Amino acid sequence: MAVERTLSIIKPDAVAKNVIGQIYTRFENAGLKVVAAKLKQLSRAEAEGFYAVHKARPFFNDLVNFMISGPVMIQVLEGENAMQTNRDLMGATDPKKAEKGTIRADFADSIDANAVHGSDSLENAAIEIAYFFAGTEVHAA
Ligand code: UDP
Repeated sequence: MAVERTLSIIKPDAVAKNVIGQIYTRFENAGLKVVAAKLKQLSRAEAEGFYAVHKARPFFNDLVNFMISGPVMIQVLEGENAMQTNRDLMGATDPKKAEKGTIRADFADSIDANAVHGSDSLENAAIEIAYFFAGTEVHAA
């Protein structure tokens, strides 16, 4: 398996619940290293740009409003198979359908407020990492 990088966001609901550390522990226990990180209040334009692929979806406005409702913790995770490893840790989009022991099953309240984002392909990971971090802000593991 190849060493990869993926983008992870701890969303406003999970930051408000004060579980950044508990979520980071799950990354670490799965062999993922944080190689870049920032706590950030997204502007509406930043959230809209990040989720531009969902612009036509009925939930787009609610999603953007939720993502700017408080600060988010954004990180680049690096490790073997990082993209899929992070997706497995996250669990299904709807926490009611997420497997027991996943981040969303344990910390998310609803499909709207679902605790975390994770890139869903390596192609998107590269785009999403570049959206939030300059090359000099990402550190070799
Ligand atoms: N979302 C929502 N309602 C839906 C589907 C998605 O609010 O019916 C939100 C949810 O926060 C989700 C995000 O839109 O995390 C992106 O959706 P996607 O299908 O890409 O899910 P993810 O990759 O985050 O599991």
